[in-house]
Amino acid sequence: MRAWLSVLKGVMAVGLVMAVLGILFVDFGVVTDVPWEYFEQEIQGSTEIDSGPSESAPEIRETKEQDSQNAEETGSGQLIVETYTAEPTMGETFTAETETQGMAVNGALWQELTLSEQQLIERGKVIYLTFDDGPTRHTAELLDILAKYNVKATFFVTGESRDYVGLIGRAKEEGHTVGIHCFYHDYKTVYASERAYFADMQMIDDLIFEQTGERAELVRFPGGSSNQVSRFNKGIMTRLTKLVEEKGYRYFDWNVLSGDAGETRETAEIIQNIKEGILKKDIAVVLQHDIYDYSIAAVEEIIVWGMENGYVFLPLTMDSPTIHHPIAN
Ligand SMILES: [Zn+2]
Repeated sequence: MRAWLSVLKGVMAVGLVMAVLGILFVDFGVVTDVPWEYFEQEIQGSTEIDSGPSESAPEIRETKEQDSQNAEETGSGQLIVETYTAEPTMGETFTAETETQGMAVNGALWQELTLSEQQLIERGKVIYLTFDDGPTRHTAELLDILAKYNVKATFFVTGESRDYVGLIGRAKEEGHTVGIHCFYHDYKTVYASERAYFADMQMIDDLIFEQTGERAELVRFPGGSSNQVSRFNKGIMTRLTKLVEEKGYRYFDWNVLSGDAGETRETAEIIQNIKEGILKKDIAVVLQHDIYDYSIAAVEEIIVWGMENGYVFLPLTMDSPTIHHPIAN
């Protein structure tokens, strides 16, 4: 009897250990619910990102690569990006099959997605390119670059450059996500009060509607939700982040900084910052500003590098993983 009892205890102990290990593996092996908290811990500065859970990142990456290899072998999923160096020969004759595998267009890389956003998120290696403060005289060139690779991005727009607001419509038409940034990029005005914030938001939302025929669903706060520039109005970000979500919007911050907002004007340095940031993430939300030509000049190299290294580029949606900074006001 005793012997049976101790065997039973032994089995229970093993079961308990396996359950704990199971939880650990779910946490680190599969990008499902849990790891998004991880992004929420991380704010802008690369030093903070370094001090975080970056040591576990290579493990996650390995798992992902294995998963995607398995998916290819079993035919249950197909990686999207393929490199073509041959002369383009397809033109009018391309078939449904070549379309799903990616194809050469003028000899360039071409992203064709055959998996859903959720499937790609589970697989990892997803890059969300986001551009704030436009449209400007540089935005058309940016849209051309994105179109060349069939890459979709996200534009958090303003109403500042009247001559270029038509590009909001073009961005939407070409499959990009258009989100709300602000009409006037003036912190003192926008964060003066809740009423002031929503009055400005209404203006930019109306402009987006006028240009695209649809209301925006996504929001990026000027300066991000972690901004301290609004501290002249104590607690405004705590209140606005709640109110915006109560009204049915989703707001997004970022977890990869390009450094184009003042740290550097060197395209090479911007490229370096973005690549380094992306390498630390399974899901990267990159912040750039399409008001700077030297930042736009970085985009093509990032796309080519990303595609050649098995990343996919997606536009943010209501279903994208939450990337929130800690609120500092
Ligand atoms: Zn901005």
